[in-house]
Amino acid sequence: MSNFTNSPMVNVTFNVPHRNSPRNAEITAITLHHFASTATVDNIGGWFMQAAARASYNYGVGNRRTAMYVEERNRSWASSNAANDHRAITIGVQNSARGNPWPIADSDELHLIQLCIDICRRNPGIRQENGTRGLWYNGTSRGSLTRHNMFANTDCPGRDLGGRFQNIVRQVNAVLDAEFNQNQPVTPQPPTPPNTWTIGQIVQFAGGPHFVGSTVATPSGERRAGRAQITALAPGARNSIHLVGSLGNAGGNNSNVHGWVDANLVTSLEPVAPPQPPQPPAPPRPPVLSVGDIVTFKGGPHFGNSLSATPSGTTRSVGRARVTALANGRRNPVHLVGSQGGSGSGNSNVHGWVTLDRIDGATPPPPRVIAAGSHVRIQPGSTWFTGLGIPASIMTDTWVVLSRNGDRVVLNTNVTGTRTGIMSPIHVNRLTLI
Ligand SMILES: [Zn+2]
Repeated sequence: MSNFTNSPMVNVTFNVPHRNSPRNAEITAITLHHFASTATVDNIGGWFMQAAARASYNYGVGNRRTAMYVEERNRSWASSNAANDHRAITIGVQNSARGNPWPIADSDELHLIQLCIDICRRNPGIRQENGTRGLWYNGTSRGSLTRHNMFANTDCPGRDLGGRFQNIVRQVNAVLDAEFNQNQPVTPQPPTPPNTWTIGQIVQFAGGPHFVGSTVATPSGERRAGRAQITALAPGARNSIHLVGSLGNAGGNNSNVHGWVDANLVTSLEPVAPPQPPQPPAPPRPPVLSVGDIVTFKGGPHFGNSLSATPSGTTRSVGRARVTALANGRRNPVHLVGSQGGSGSGNSNVHGWVTLDRIDGATPPPPRVIAAGSHVRIQPGSTWFTGLGIPASIMTDTWVVLSRNGDRVVLNTNVTGTRTGIMSPIHVNRLTLI
């Protein structure tokens, strides 16, 4: 059996007595729960400590804090299923409001993703479908990411957290796969565009429970993976897609599903995004200016320094001039001396700093934009996208952009590679390109 460790992310530890010590199986899964309560991780810990509670998780997550209730080497009493609790790390997540859909905070989803990354790093028995370290969610208890209601007749982990499983798997595996392929550049996965479903479409069902109605919470059995046809849709419902496996196709790999299912278990058989058309070759860029170049000055003002907005003297004449200094990125980035433009007539009387648009053939460099792979620093006084404060040690570091979606940028690893897995979103305007 592996050497058990505990997460370094823990903020508070409870030694909850409701457990079995030690667990009797290798850790091969993570099972998620919701608190079914807005109580904090500390309040839940206090409740677990009572003799009457007779329940526990290994960890709790809420308000970006992590509590450890039962050490990883021990089995928690979480899922009403001893075999599962012996092989799984169980995690409860605080709800941000009571009642359906039992929402959780986006910041706690990110915190949960970081905790799952940490757990997978330390427990190599938790594997993706292909056998590499990471999470596998296929809607059944055979996966390495499971939910309480696979083992007991309960709504836990609630519809909101339940709908985040695919994203959690994607984010966790993106980080672990990048670590696994250490010599490959990190290729963040673009967010999956929302599926558009149509009645009559043939789809792939991942296997899992089906239900007699779109709002029914109690499954009428588990069905195997395979092809199926969409025969009805109920957008927004708990089980929003009605599938009939016998209509899947004639090829013999149909599911035996016949009922309403969770859309998270359905994938399109068509490619998610159309292939990109080949890009035309980029137009040739004008040569970059160098000190010593002879250029044609179009006439106009010159300035006493590269930052000044007030011309020095009168408008200078059209003619040749020599580049004698460069200050790239400044308002007036080029210093010209007309008298060094060459022998004979035709030289400008310019002698000072000028703007690029006054030089024939020179165009400003394209603006640099923040994108995946950019190196950035966080501007003083910033908060995370969620509004939460940023620790000083993160403010003073330089970070690699993992992905960008509109104004939302996700940072994950610092440029030196000494810190990784922070998976934190921030507004693009709070970042400075390095
Ligand atoms: Zn639960």
